[in-house]
Amino acid sequence: MARTLYILGSGQDGGLPQLGARIAADMHARVDPLAVRLGPSVCVLDDDGRCLLIDVSPDIKEQESRLLQVPAYAARPAGNPFDAVLLTHAHMGHYVGLAHFGREAANTRELPVYCTAKMDDFLRRNAPWDQLVALGNIALLPAATMHPWPGLSIRTIPVPHRGEYTDTVGVSINNDILYVPDIDDWRQWPAAREEVARHRVCLLDATFYSRDELPGRDLKEISHPFIEDTLAFFADEAKSRRIILTHFNHSNPVCDPTSPQAGRVLDAGFELAQEMTAIAL
Ligand SMILES: [Zn+2]
Ligand SMILES: [Zn+2]
Repeated sequence: MARTLYILGSGQDGGLPQLGARIAADMHARVDPLAVRLGPSVCVLDDDGRCLLIDVSPDIKEQESRLLQVPAYAARPAGNPFDAVLLTHAHMGHYVGLAHFGREAANTRELPVYCTAKMDDFLRRNAPWDQLVALGNIALLPAATMHPWPGLSIRTIPVPHRGEYTDTVGVSINNDILYVPDIDDWRQWPAAREEVARHRVCLLDATFYSRDELPGRDLKEISHPFIEDTLAFFADEAKSRRIILTHFNHSNPVCDPTSPQAGRVLDAGFELAQEMTAIAL
């Protein structure tokens, strides 16, 4: 069975443009659809149309529209738009699109939603998510290791990330592709190099390019590595595998692929995520 990962959203939780923002990148993205970055999400699509969605961003409707351009996805019968969902954590860019699964919208039936025990507890205890469980729109399942269907094996990996509501996981897909959209710092994750080294393709948190992007902000408040640091930290690993940076904040200069900063990323042997980039598994 041929199987492909699609990057559905390369933006940070708020996407590009970001609501209320007025910097040049936001103003440009409001008039140029090619500059838009959607909320953070990927999916794994089998040739027979079976589809695992990893995180449900606020842009899920637009992401489904783009996915419908892929024949294998378009051939799916009406009904649940995905066969299973995996959630990494409860920051708004990664799960609030679940609201579209309720009875006011898609009204999915017993859609398997895999997540950690803390995320499970959070969804069951808080409105409006508890209603999705009570009405049978979603069925919560533990995510530690999951085999949604034959040939697809998912391992979740706890990573350090600010956890007001839940813990956070990275995702290993068939021990081939690693997806870590949010992490506080590579150095706070002891297994960072080891996990990156065991995957052929890694999609990694690249929210901010450098400290220059955040004048006046206390560095202790910034719970993401900077791209400048990431390029140095994984320089050796990038020589023998694809490392694709993703989860770009609207202020990140690499959102413009013609920027000098984007050029530096490519020169260092790393790649930049783009909506609907396809990676064969
Ligand atoms: Zn995020
Ligand atoms: Zn987060």
